[in-house]
Amino acid sequence: MEAVFFVPLPPSSTLEQRTRAVKKLLDASEFDAIVARKDKTAVKTHVGEKRNTTHVSPILVKVIVERLKRGGALPFLTETSTLYRGRRSNAVDHLNHAYSHGFGPDAVGAPFIMADGLSGNSEQEVPIPGVIFDTVHIAREAVFADALVVVSHPTGHMSEGIGACIKNLGMGLASRKGKLRMHSSVKPSIKAEACTFCGQCIRWCPEDAIVPRDGRAFIVQERCIGCGECLAVCRFDAVMYDWRTESAELQRRTAEHAFGAVIGKKGKLYCLNFLTDMTRDCDCLAQKQEPLLPDLGILASRDPVAVDQATLDLTRERFGRHLGEASYPELDSGIQIEHGERIGMGSRKYRLVPV
Ligand code: SF4
Ligand code: SF4
Repeated sequence: MEAVFFVPLPPSSTLEQRTRAVKKLLDASEFDAIVARKDKTAVKTHVGEKRNTTHVSPILVKVIVERLKRGGALPFLTETSTLYRGRRSNAVDHLNHAYSHGFGPDAVGAPFIMADGLSGNSEQEVPIPGVIFDTVHIAREAVFADALVVVSHPTGHMSEGIGACIKNLGMGLASRKGKLRMHSSVKPSIKAEACTFCGQCIRWCPEDAIVPRDGRAFIVQERCIGCGECLAVCRFDAVMYDWRTESAELQRRTAEHAFGAVIGKKGKLYCLNFLTDMTRDCDCLAQKQEPLLPDLGILASRDPVAVDQATLDLTRERFGRHLGEASYPELDSGIQIEHGERIGMGSRKYRLVPV
């Protein structure tokens, strides 16, 4: 049974308290065991969309980078391009944006290398023992890195219930093709009576799949890639999904891509979940969000399934409902975790080790 280490934090923790907690966690957990001299070590993080302030701070990422360098490793920060339009949809915009959020090499002490190349199509097809897929398309540099440290900020998620380590790995390290294969089963439609024809969804749809029809927005299903951008930008609740079945399928697909990102990293994977500033929506939303739950602490494990299960368990134990139930109660956010276990990525049974 894999260990999940936990350092608690006060409900409104400061950056200083978080910095001390990360150091304590790295000291007490098995972090140094994954560090080897000259290992090119990818540190997967999320720099937050424009106006997002609740992502994991670069100051905390720097603590991890310094620790890797002390062990002789060659750390680099990494990310992939998003499907939706925004500040992170290609490498140039993404890097400029990352630097503006404090993730530049001078600030963090490591270069930032996009794992999926300039436009999201630098990839490796990775065989996995999946239920849905036999192979998944993963960002190339993540596959070829010797070791992987996953820095995740658990939040609610409008399509998956929660976004934590599995989501950060699956969606966050898939190439564009991988992301499309995950999303292809989730296609929304527009409720004409609720649509004010404000045009926001038309502006943001990455595939030009939304067109005017009878003075309302209309989704051309054949063009839609199911990215959910229209849902995020519509303020009038006019965009509809069939959550129950489609979210479940998306979560399973995400878990299979997550497995593709870690399957070659046996003994070389370390996952950190920051249960701080937990918001209803993920850090991809281009707006400032208020935390939904008080801070709890930081979790670390070698097992991505265990660390996400512990995230749900600890939030439920402390607040009476877990992060997914507090964010999107209509979705069963545990499906991605169950599926991760089913395909052999990890175990939902773990040993909690308070630090
Ligand atoms: S954002 Fe919503 S209200 Fe505006 S055009 Fe699209 S569906 Fe209609
Ligand atoms: S219509 Fe489809 S492709 Fe366009 S924003 Fe909505 S989900 Fe994405």
